[in-house]
Amino acid sequence: MKKILLIATGGTIASVQTEDGMMPGLDGQGLIDRVPALKAICEIDTLELMQLDSTNIQPEHWIDMARTIKNNYDLYDGFVISHGTDTMAYSSAALYYMLENLNKPVVLTGSQLSLTEDGTDAPDNLITAFTAASKGRPGVYLTFYGRLIQGNAAKKLYTEHFHAFHSINVPEVAVLEQGELKFNPDYEAYLKEHAPKPATGDLIIHDQLSKKVVMIELTPGFDKNYIKFLVEAGCQGIVLKVFGSGGIPGVESPGNILPCIDYAISHGVQVVATTQCVFDGTHMDRYEVGVTALKHGVKSGGPLTSEALIVKMMLELGRKQA
Ligand code: ASP
Repeated sequence: MKKILLIATGGTIASVQTEDGMMPGLDGQGLIDRVPALKAICEIDTLELMQLDSTNIQPEHWIDMARTIKNNYDLYDGFVISHGTDTMAYSSAALYYMLENLNKPVVLTGSQLSLTEDGTDAPDNLITAFTAASKGRPGVYLTFYGRLIQGNAAKKLYTEHFHAFHSINVPEVAVLEQGELKFNPDYEAYLKEHAPKPATGDLIIHDQLSKKVVMIELTPGFDKNYIKFLVEAGCQGIVLKVFGSGGIPGVESPGNILPCIDYAISHGVQVVATTQCVFDGTHMDRYEVGVTALKHGVKSGGPLTSEALIVKMMLELGRKQA
C-alpha cells in the first residue's frame, strides 16, 4: 500500500461550530478517523501544520507547506493537503510554481461543509484526494467534487455549491469513477502541447516571494491616480483585471489610465493584464484598446488565472530581490 502524508492546515473541512461561527477545530487524525473508507486506499500519516481559516493564509504559509513536503519527501509516496477553500486556488498555484522536479503527487482539497455537518462533501473530496495521491500522477493538483484540476488552473466559482472549483482554460485532469481515476483524453491532448518540465533531479523549492504585488479590478470611473499611489507606496507588480479580451481605457476615454500605466512601468513596476471574464483568458491583440496597452508595456496574462499570475509575479519579483 502506498504511504501518504496528510498535511492539515484547517479550513471548513476541519471546522467546528463556535459562538463566533465556524472555525477549524479538528486535527488531521480527526479528519481521517471520520472517513473509514480511506484505510482501504492507502496508509496515512498526519501532520498538523496549521489550523487556519484559509482567509488567514499568507505566502509564509505556502513556504511552510513547500518545506514540509521537502522535509518528508523521501518518506512518502504522495501528499494530501487539507485546506480551506477560500484561498485554496492560490495555495495550489503557489505550490505548482514553487516545487521544481516534483516526482510525486501533491493534492490539495477541502470542502464546502465541515466533516462534522450532515450531508458533508468532505468524505468524497478526501477519498478523491487520497486516490489521486496514491494512484495518480506526479504534480500539484486541486481536487473537488470528484474532479482533479491542474494546480495552477483552479478557481473557486461558488461560495456554497459542492462543484465549487472549476478548471480554467485547461481541461480537467481526471474524474473519480467507481473508485478509479479516469484521466481525461482532452487533458492528455493538452499535455502534448504543454508538456510540464520533466523532473531531472532532486526536489527544489522556490521560496523567495515578494509581497509587493497587488491586483486591481478596473471599473468604469476608475481613478488612474490609484495606480500612482500604489507605485509611491512601493508596489512592484500589478495584476490588472481588465475588461473582456484585454481592454484598458485609453485616449478616447475621460478615464484614460495609460499615463499612470506609463508612470508605473517607468518606475520598474510590472503590469500584467488578466480578464474579468472567468474563461478564455486575455487576447490583447484583438482590439485597439488592448494593442495600445501592449504598446505601453502591459503584459498579457493569456490563459492563466489571476491566482496563477499573482503567485508567478510574487516569485519572479522575489527571485530578483534575492
Ligand atoms: N472560510 C473557509 C476557509 O477558506 C471556507 C472553506 O474552507 O470552505 O477556510
